[in-house]
Amino acid sequence: MTARAAVRGLVKRYGERVALAGLSFTLEPGQRVVLLGPNGAGKSTLFQVLTGLFAADEGDVEVAGHSLRRAPARALAEIGVVFQQMSLDLDLSVRRNLRFHAALHGLPSRLADARIAEDCAARGLGADLERPVRELSGGNRRKVELVRALLHRPALLLMDEPTVGLDPKSRRELLTAIDADVRTRGSTVLWATHLVEEADGADRVLVLHRGRLLADGPPPAVSSALGGGSLEDAFLAATA
Ligand code: ADP
Repeated sequence: MTARAAVRGLVKRYGERVALAGLSFTLEPGQRVVLLGPNGAGKSTLFQVLTGLFAADEGDVEVAGHSLRRAPARALAEIGVVFQQMSLDLDLSVRRNLRFHAALHGLPSRLADARIAEDCAARGLGADLERPVRELSGGNRRKVELVRALLHRPALLLMDEPTVGLDPKSRRELLTAIDADVRTRGSTVLWATHLVEEADGADRVLVLHRGRLLADGPPPAVSSALGGGSLEDAFLAATA
């Protein structure tokens, strides 16, 4: 099967400091992949490269077969992102926030409106479409951001520490919504976190430490590869 995304030999330095040290991996369709790393591991740097915010010093990324270096517009059109910081306009309604994003991606307005109605209803936001985002809870704002990230039906969804500031119930709902999308649409999700419990139920865990992969596989295999015990014990010992 063709990979959804391929990261090939990424190197990124900040002066003397190496943030990504020749990082390579591929992502397959229909998986939630957790990128687990302690602070400073290189997660944000990787996401900044993947979202085209800056170029790596070496290496390339392919998304749905498009090279980020040679065809950046095509590669980026296949990516959806939920950023760590809330990034909605608080004064605009949910519908207007979503329409704005759809227009940026060139979605015809009838198609956009149909997807907005359907996707919001599926996530329990059907009654909130005309409300300003300011009136929504943190958990529902995150759900709007998820709907927004998926409106253009990207091949690859990036979630950058998406549960920061969410209560446990909202965190669980977000994970459930993501897993549903992975199962029903076969989307590929790369979920960055430093929270080991978010690797529970993931199809695959990539453990990032000092810009390199320490382990890669389903959660039990990763625990074993890192020395055994619980995933949390193994992760803390390996990244100490
Ligand atoms: P994470 O997101 O996993 O916490 P980062 O990608 O933010 O990791 O950081 C990776 C490494 O690069 C760290 O050593 C960090 O100190 C360094 N770094 C990140 N951003 C910068 C920057 N703008 N200037 C210098 N060093 C940076």
